[in-house]
Amino acid sequence: MRKYNRAAYLNLAVKALLFVTFVALSFCVFYCFLNLGILISAAVAALFGSAVVFLFSYLLRYTAFYFKYYFLISGLLFRNSQGNVYCPCCGKRFEKFQDDRYYDDKRFNPSTFSNSRQDVICDCCRSAPRQRIIAEWAEQNTELLNRSEILYFAPELSMMLWFKRHGIKVKTADLFDRRTDLKLDLTALDLPDESVDIVFCNHVLEHVTDHSRALSELHRIIRKGGRLIISFPIDESLDEMIEDKECSVEDRIRLFGQCDHLRLFGKDSKMMLENAGFEADTIDIRKMPEDIVPVTGPSDYDTNKIFCCIRK
Ligand SMILES: [Zn+2]
Repeated sequence: MRKYNRAAYLNLAVKALLFVTFVALSFCVFYCFLNLGILISAAVAALFGSAVVFLFSYLLRYTAFYFKYYFLISGLLFRNSQGNVYCPCCGKRFEKFQDDRYYDDKRFNPSTFSNSRQDVICDCCRSAPRQRIIAEWAEQNTELLNRSEILYFAPELSMMLWFKRHGIKVKTADLFDRRTDLKLDLTALDLPDESVDIVFCNHVLEHVTDHSRALSELHRIIRKGGRLIISFPIDESLDEMIEDKECSVEDRIRLFGQCDHLRLFGKDSKMMLENAGFEADTIDIRKMPEDIVPVTGPSDYDTNKIFCCIRK
Protein backbone atom coordinates (compact mmCIF):
# COMPACT_ATOMS: atom_id res chain seq x y z
CA MET A 1 0.00 0.00 0.00
CA ARG A 2 1.56 3.33 -0.93
CA LYS A 3 1.39 6.67 0.76
CA TYR A 4 0.65 9.65 -1.43
CA ASN A 5 3.31 12.29 -1.68
CA ARG A 6 2.13 15.56 -0.12
CA ALA A 7 4.72 17.70 -1.91
CA ALA A 8 3.63 16.26 -5.23
CA TYR A 9 -0.02 17.02 -4.50
CA LEU A 10 0.87 20.63 -3.64
CA ASN A 11 2.91 20.90 -6.80
CA LEU A 12 0.01 19.51 -8.79
CA ALA A 13 -2.52 21.85 -7.13
CA VAL A 14 -0.39 24.93 -7.87
CA LYS A 15 0.02 23.90 -11.49
CA ALA A 16 -3.71 23.17 -11.86
CA LEU A 17 -4.52 26.61 -10.39
CA LEU A 18 -2.12 28.32 -12.80
CA PHE A 19 -3.67 26.44 -15.68
CA VAL A 20 -7.25 27.36 -14.76
CA THR A 21 -6.23 31.02 -14.33
CA PHE A 22 -4.58 31.01 -17.72
CA VAL A 23 -7.60 29.47 -19.44
CA ALA A 24 -9.93 31.99 -17.76
CA LEU A 25 -7.74 34.91 -18.86
CA SER A 26 -7.56 33.49 -22.39
CA PHE A 27 -11.34 33.38 -22.61
CA CYS A 28 -11.57 36.98 -21.38
CA VAL A 29 -9.20 38.05 -24.13
CA PHE A 30 -11.19 35.96 -26.62
CA TYR A 31 -14.43 37.80 -25.83
CA CYS A 32 -12.77 41.24 -25.83
CA PHE A 33 -10.97 40.82 -29.14
CA LEU A 34 -13.11 38.63 -31.35
CA ASN A 35 -10.84 39.18 -34.32
CA LEU A 36 -8.09 37.39 -32.39
CA GLY A 37 -10.49 34.57 -31.57
CA ILE A 38 -9.13 31.87 -33.84
CA LEU A 39 -5.54 32.50 -32.82
CA ILE A 40 -6.40 32.48 -29.14
CA SER A 41 -8.61 29.39 -29.47
CA ALA A 42 -5.74 27.52 -31.11
CA ALA A 43 -3.33 28.63 -28.37
CA VAL A 44 -5.78 27.66 -25.64
CA ALA A 45 -6.42 24.28 -27.26
CA ALA A 46 -2.68 23.58 -27.52
CA LEU A 47 -2.14 24.62 -23.93
CA PHE A 48 -5.15 22.62 -22.75
CA GLY A 49 -3.92 19.53 -24.60
CA SER A 50 -0.44 19.70 -23.13
CA ALA A 51 -1.87 20.45 -19.67
CA VAL A 52 -4.10 17.36 -19.86
CA VAL A 53 -1.11 15.20 -20.80
CA PHE A 54 0.93 16.80 -18.01
CA LEU A 55 -1.77 16.30 -15.37
CA PHE A 56 -2.45 12.75 -16.50
CA SER A 57 1.23 11.87 -16.25
CA TYR A 58 1.31 13.33 -12.74
CA LEU A 59 -1.73 11.32 -11.73
CA LEU A 60 -0.12 8.17 -13.03
CA ARG A 61 3.15 9.05 -11.39
CA TYR A 62 1.71 9.70 -7.96
CA THR A 63 -1.20 7.31 -7.77
CA ALA A 64 0.31 4.48 -9.83
CA PHE A 65 -3.26 3.75 -10.72
CA TYR A 66 -3.51 2.58 -14.29
CA PHE A 67 -0.65 0.11 -14.39
CA LYS A 68 -1.55 -0.95 -17.91
CA TYR A 69 -0.37 2.47 -19.13
CA TYR A 70 2.30 3.08 -16.52
CA PHE A 71 4.90 1.22 -18.58
CA LEU A 72 4.62 3.81 -21.36
CA ILE A 73 4.41 6.85 -19.08
CA SER A 74 7.24 5.79 -16.75
CA GLY A 75 9.47 5.34 -19.81
CA LEU A 76 8.92 9.01 -20.64
CA LEU A 77 9.15 10.30 -17.06
CA PHE A 78 12.16 8.40 -15.81
CA ARG A 79 15.46 8.46 -17.59
CA ASN A 80 17.93 5.67 -16.94
CA SER A 81 20.74 7.22 -14.94
CA GLN A 82 23.99 6.07 -13.41
CA GLY A 83 23.63 5.21 -9.74
CA ASN A 84 24.32 2.90 -6.87
CA VAL A 85 20.97 1.15 -6.74
CA TYR A 86 19.05 -0.81 -9.35
CA CYS A 87 15.40 -1.79 -9.57
CA PRO A 88 14.96 -5.04 -11.53
CA CYS A 89 11.18 -4.45 -11.66
CA CYS A 90 11.24 -1.32 -13.82
CA GLY A 91 14.85 -1.74 -14.99
CA LYS A 92 15.90 1.72 -13.82
CA ARG A 93 19.01 2.76 -11.92
CA PHE A 94 19.05 5.53 -9.31
CA GLU A 95 21.40 7.35 -6.95
CA LYS A 96 19.33 5.95 -4.07
CA PHE A 97 15.89 4.59 -3.28
CA GLN A 98 13.30 6.82 -1.64
CA ASP A 99 11.96 7.11 1.90
CA ASP A 100 8.17 7.17 1.57
CA ARG A 101 7.68 8.17 5.23
CA TYR A 102 5.16 5.41 5.95
CA TYR A 103 5.92 5.93 9.68
CA ASP A 104 4.13 9.31 9.43
CA ASP A 105 1.00 7.65 8.07
CA LYS A 106 -1.79 7.11 10.60
CA ARG A 107 -2.73 3.79 9.02
CA PHE A 108 0.52 2.24 10.28
CA ASN A 109 2.07 1.69 13.68
CA PRO A 110 5.19 3.94 13.77
CA SER A 111 6.93 1.69 16.29
CA THR A 112 7.11 -1.09 13.67
CA PHE A 113 9.48 1.03 11.60
CA SER A 114 12.17 1.09 14.28
CA ASN A 115 14.92 -1.06 12.88
CA SER A 116 14.24 -0.87 9.19
CA ARG A 117 15.91 1.09 6.50
CA GLN A 118 13.45 3.61 5.12
CA ASP A 119 15.16 4.53 1.86
CA VAL A 120 13.97 1.41 0.10
CA ILE A 121 11.19 2.46 -2.29
CA CYS A 122 11.84 2.75 -6.05
CA ASP A 123 10.97 6.23 -7.26
CA CYS A 124 9.70 4.94 -10.60
CA CYS A 125 7.61 1.82 -9.86
CA ARG A 126 7.29 2.02 -6.06
CA SER A 127 8.90 -1.39 -5.57
CA ALA A 128 9.88 -2.36 -2.03
CA PRO A 129 12.75 -4.80 -1.38
CA ARG A 130 10.42 -7.81 -1.46
CA GLN A 131 9.23 -7.02 -4.99
CA ARG A 132 12.79 -6.53 -6.21
CA ILE A 133 13.72 -9.92 -4.70
CA ILE A 134 10.78 -11.53 -6.50
CA ALA A 135 11.80 -9.80 -9.75
CA GLU A 136 15.34 -11.17 -9.35
CA TRP A 137 13.92 -14.64 -8.77
CA ALA A 138 11.74 -14.17 -11.86
CA GLU A 139 14.83 -13.12 -13.89
CA GLN A 140 16.40 -16.45 -12.98
CA ASN A 141 13.22 -18.37 -13.89
CA THR A 142 12.03 -16.70 -17.09
CA GLU A 143 11.86 -20.01 -18.99
CA LEU A 144 9.64 -21.56 -16.33
CA LEU A 145 7.43 -18.45 -16.24
CA ASN A 146 7.18 -18.36 -20.04
CA ARG A 147 5.69 -21.82 -20.25
CA SER A 148 3.41 -21.50 -17.20
CA GLU A 149 -0.12 -20.33 -16.61
CA ILE A 150 0.31 -17.60 -14.04
CA LEU A 151 -2.22 -16.06 -11.69
CA TYR A 152 -1.25 -12.93 -9.75
CA PHE A 153 -3.34 -11.98 -6.72
CA ALA A 154 -3.49 -8.32 -5.73
CA PRO A 155 -1.12 -7.38 -8.58
CA GLU A 156 1.73 -5.08 -7.68
CA LEU A 157 2.58 -2.34 -10.16
CA SER A 158 6.31 -3.09 -9.95
CA MET A 159 5.90 -6.77 -10.83
CA MET A 160 3.38 -5.96 -13.56
CA LEU A 161 6.11 -3.79 -15.12
CA TRP A 162 8.55 -6.69 -14.90
CA PHE A 163 6.12 -9.07 -16.68
CA LYS A 164 5.38 -6.44 -19.32
CA ARG A 165 9.09 -5.81 -19.95
CA HIS A 166 9.69 -9.55 -20.37
CA GLY A 167 6.61 -10.21 -22.52
CA ILE A 168 5.24 -12.80 -20.07
CA LYS A 169 1.46 -13.10 -19.81
CA VAL A 170 -0.21 -13.16 -16.39
CA LYS A 171 -3.82 -13.23 -15.30
CA THR A 172 -4.48 -10.82 -12.46
CA ALA A 173 -7.10 -11.25 -9.75
CA ASP A 174 -8.49 -9.30 -6.83
CA LEU A 175 -11.72 -9.12 -4.88
CA PHE A 176 -12.00 -5.31 -4.90
CA ASP A 177 -9.64 -3.93 -7.54
CA ARG A 178 -11.58 -3.39 -10.79
CA ARG A 179 -8.42 -3.21 -12.90
CA THR A 180 -7.74 -6.94 -12.60
CA ASP A 181 -8.72 -9.61 -15.15
CA LEU A 182 -10.68 -11.66 -12.61
CA LYS A 183 -12.69 -10.83 -9.54
CA LEU A 184 -11.88 -13.62 -7.09
CA ASP A 185 -12.33 -14.23 -3.40
CA LEU A 186 -9.20 -15.96 -2.14
CA THR A 187 -11.23 -17.95 0.38
CA ALA A 188 -13.69 -19.27 -2.26
CA LEU A 189 -11.92 -19.36 -5.61
CA ASP A 190 -14.18 -19.67 -8.61
CA LEU A 191 -11.58 -21.72 -10.52
CA PRO A 192 -11.34 -25.44 -11.36
CA ASP A 193 -9.03 -27.79 -9.44
CA GLU A 194 -5.41 -27.87 -10.63
CA SER A 195 -5.92 -25.21 -13.27
CA VAL A 196 -2.91 -22.90 -12.68
CA ASP A 197 0.86 -23.50 -12.73
CA ILE A 198 2.12 -20.57 -10.68
CA VAL A 199 0.36 -18.25 -8.23
CA PHE A 200 1.86 -15.04 -6.86
CA CYS A 201 0.19 -13.89 -3.66
CA ASN A 202 2.09 -11.22 -1.76
CA HIS A 203 0.81 -9.53 1.36
CA VAL A 204 -2.77 -10.72 0.94
CA LEU A 205 -2.99 -13.46 3.57
CA GLU A 206 -2.99 -10.96 6.46
CA HIS A 207 -6.13 -9.28 5.02
CA VAL A 208 -8.44 -12.22 4.33
CA THR A 209 -11.05 -13.43 6.80
CA ASP A 210 -9.87 -17.05 6.82
CA HIS A 211 -6.21 -17.56 5.90
CA SER A 212 -6.34 -21.38 6.31
CA ARG A 213 -9.23 -21.56 3.86
CA ALA A 214 -7.28 -19.29 1.47
CA LEU A 215 -4.24 -21.60 1.58
CA SER A 216 -6.42 -24.64 1.03
CA GLU A 217 -8.06 -22.95 -1.98
CA LEU A 218 -4.63 -22.05 -3.39
CA HIS A 219 -3.54 -25.66 -2.96
CA ARG A 220 -6.67 -26.82 -4.79
CA ILE A 221 -6.23 -24.62 -7.90
CA ILE A 222 -2.45 -25.10 -8.34
CA ARG A 223 -1.37 -28.11 -10.39
CA LYS A 224 0.72 -30.76 -8.67
CA GLY A 225 4.36 -29.63 -8.90
CA GLY A 226 3.25 -26.04 -9.51
CA ARG A 227 4.47 -23.12 -7.47
CA LEU A 228 3.14 -20.64 -4.99
CA ILE A 229 5.20 -17.49 -4.47
CA ILE A 230 3.88 -16.00 -1.28
CA SER A 231 4.88 -13.48 1.37
CA PHE A 232 3.21 -11.77 4.32
CA PRO A 233 4.22 -9.66 7.33
CA ILE A 234 6.28 -11.72 9.79
CA ASP A 235 7.34 -10.89 13.31
CA GLU A 236 10.31 -13.17 13.92
CA SER A 237 9.93 -12.77 17.69
CA LEU A 238 6.54 -14.52 17.61
CA ASP A 239 6.58 -18.30 18.04
CA GLU A 240 3.08 -18.52 16.60
CA MET A 241 0.84 -16.39 14.44
CA ILE A 242 -1.46 -14.01 16.34
CA GLU A 243 -4.86 -12.97 15.02
CA ASP A 244 -8.03 -11.15 16.00
CA LYS A 245 -10.70 -10.70 13.35
CA GLU A 246 -13.05 -8.70 15.55
CA CYS A 247 -10.79 -6.07 17.10
CA SER A 248 -11.00 -2.31 16.47
CA VAL A 249 -8.96 -0.45 13.87
CA GLU A 250 -6.81 1.07 16.67
CA ASP A 251 -6.07 -2.40 18.03
CA ARG A 252 -5.22 -3.70 14.58
CA ILE A 253 -2.68 -0.91 14.16
CA ARG A 254 -1.26 -1.60 17.62
CA LEU A 255 -1.22 -5.42 17.37
CA PHE A 256 -0.61 -6.10 13.69
CA GLY A 257 1.00 -2.86 12.52
CA GLN A 258 -1.61 -1.77 9.96
CA CYS A 259 -5.25 -0.68 10.04
CA ASP A 260 -6.54 -3.47 7.76
CA HIS A 261 -4.42 -6.39 8.99
CA LEU A 262 -6.26 -9.16 10.83
CA ARG A 263 -3.20 -11.15 11.89
CA LEU A 264 0.56 -11.18 12.16
CA PHE A 265 2.59 -14.24 11.22
CA GLY A 266 5.42 -15.70 13.28
CA LYS A 267 8.10 -18.38 13.23
CA ASP A 268 5.48 -21.03 12.42
CA SER A 269 4.94 -19.68 8.86
CA LYS A 270 6.88 -22.45 7.11
CA MET A 271 5.00 -25.11 9.07
CA MET A 272 1.69 -23.43 8.23
CA LEU A 273 2.48 -23.65 4.49
CA GLU A 274 3.63 -27.26 4.80
CA ASN A 275 0.47 -28.20 6.66
CA ALA A 276 -1.48 -26.74 3.74
CA GLY A 277 0.18 -29.23 1.38
CA PHE A 278 3.17 -27.27 0.08
CA GLU A 279 6.86 -27.99 0.16
CA ALA A 280 7.90 -24.61 1.52
CA ASP A 281 11.27 -23.04 0.83
CA THR A 282 12.37 -19.41 0.84
CA ILE A 283 13.98 -17.52 -2.03
CA ASP A 284 17.70 -17.46 -1.29
CA ILE A 285 18.75 -13.83 -1.16
CA ARG A 286 22.43 -14.49 -0.45
CA LYS A 287 23.22 -14.52 -4.16
CA MET A 288 21.10 -11.46 -4.90
CA PRO A 289 23.00 -8.39 -6.09
CA GLU A 290 23.56 -5.77 -3.39
CA ASP A 291 22.40 -2.93 -5.65
CA ILE A 292 18.76 -4.09 -5.47
CA VAL A 293 19.06 -3.41 -1.70
CA PRO A 294 17.51 -6.67 -0.46
CA VAL A 295 16.96 -5.53 3.11
CA THR A 296 14.10 -5.61 5.58
CA GLY A 297 11.71 -2.73 5.17
CA PRO A 298 10.06 -0.33 5.01
CA SER A 299 8.33 -1.90 8.05
CA ASP A 300 10.07 -4.30 10.45
CA TYR A 301 7.43 -6.85 9.41
CA ASP A 302 8.35 -6.51 5.74
CA THR A 303 10.98 -9.20 5.97
CA ASN A 304 12.78 -10.37 2.87
CA LYS A 305 11.39 -13.84 3.49
CA ILE A 306 9.62 -14.81 0.28
CA PHE A 307 8.30 -18.36 0.26
CA CYS A 308 8.69 -20.27 -2.98
CA CYS A 309 6.47 -23.30 -2.40
CA ILE A 310 5.98 -26.40 -4.52
CA ARG A 311 2.49 -27.87 -4.50
CA LYS A 312 2.68 -31.49 -3.33
ZN1 LIG B 1 11.39 0.33 -10.02
